Order: sequence, then C-alpha cells, then structure tokens
Amino acid sequence: MQRLIEGVHKFRSGEFGNYRKLFRKLSREGQNPHTLFITCSDSRVLAELITQSQPGDLFVVKNVGNIVPPASVRGDTNSTAAAIEFAVDTLRVSDVVICGHSQCGAISALLAEHPVSAATPHLHDWLNLAAPVRETLKKNYPHLQEARARENAAAEENVLFGLDNLHSYPCVQDRLMAGTLRLHGWFFKIATAELFAYDPETRQFSPLAAGQPSPGDC
Ligand SMILES: [Zn+2]
Repeated sequence: MQRLIEGVHKFRSGEFGNYRKLFRKLSREGQNPHTLFITCSDSRVLAELITQSQPGDLFVVKNVGNIVPPASVRGDTNSTAAAIEFAVDTLRVSDVVICGHSQCGAISALLAEHPVSAATPHLHDWLNLAAPVRETLKKNYPHLQEARARENAAAEENVLFGLDNLHSYPCVQDRLMAGTLRLHGWFFKIATAELFAYDPETRQFSPLAAGQPSPGDC
C-alpha cells in the first residue's frame, strides 16, 4: 500500500502538471471516450499504456480472462454486460476492442478444467461462461500439444467468442445496423509487448502495423 500512496504523491507533485488542463476539461465537459476496451485484469496488460491513450480516451472493462458473456446471462455474473450497454448505448463509443493476451491465468484455468473449489465459486462460475472456448480447442486444435500453444490459441478463440457474444446485445446490434460501431479483436503478447489484430478476411491474428487501423469489422 505504501507504494501506491507514494505513487499518488509522485503523480500529484510531478506528472499531474501535464494533465491539469485535460482533467479540468474532462470534468467540465464530461467524458467522451472513443473506444470501449475490454481486456483481462492481468496486471501486465495496461490498456492505456499499450495504446498510448490519454485520460478520457478509453472506457476500460477489465475482468478475469476478458470474457464477454452473451447478453442472455443475467445476475451477478454479468457486470460486464452493464459496462457494454453503458459504453455503447449511453457513451456512444465508436469502437469496441476485446483484447486477450498471452500467458493468461484465466485461460490456463479454463483449459485445466479445475474442479469446483469451495473457496472460489464465483471464479468457477465466471470462467465457465467461456466453456465453449474449451470445446472449440478440443474440436479444432487437437494437433496442438504444447501447453503454451494451446493457451495462446484458446486466448485468441476467447476473443472471437467475445466478439460473437457482443452481437447478442441489442444495443450493439442497433449500432452495427446503423453503421456507427466497429468491433475489433486484439491479442497482446506480453514478452514482446506486441499487439495482433484479428482480420475476418484471413481469419488470422496479424501484427497491428504502425499507421494502420485495425482490420475491418468483425
Ligand atoms: Zn488474463
């Protein structure tokens, strides 16, 4: 905790000077983020850092495994749905990014099919929302034997699963029909801090080249 408090003081006495005007403007005018960025709670995946975004740019949802449940999932397992509806319907973001990552503990646990633990019932139920990803791995990737390769494939499939599920939200459907919303699937490789974007035409995740927008709508 001491590190956090020292960080707050360091920010207030140093870097905040560069942001003073921006925070005042955002306070006065409210937020108007251009992108809903859904990624994993993993401490190594920092949406603002890897996209060099400023305060007010991204509406960020972090959850375990960057899972996007279908709209039909109700109750305490779907606070992510509330954030999606708020960002898409109220804030009117123009883009939604689902960003998975390498070495994801949630994906690893999902593939391991851990038995229910009395200590983590919520975690179990949450990960179980992505059970179809596990089935996709069994069906389409039997040739992958190495654990790391299987986890990366599952993390990418989980992004595609989330993109599919986004289509089940009425507010997303409306905005897609109106042509005012774009969906993107990304994958972040921790060791090299590289970003890959899903291209629905090639059905591959390819390096996100500089000066190039993320490939078309998913
Ligand atoms: Zn993760």
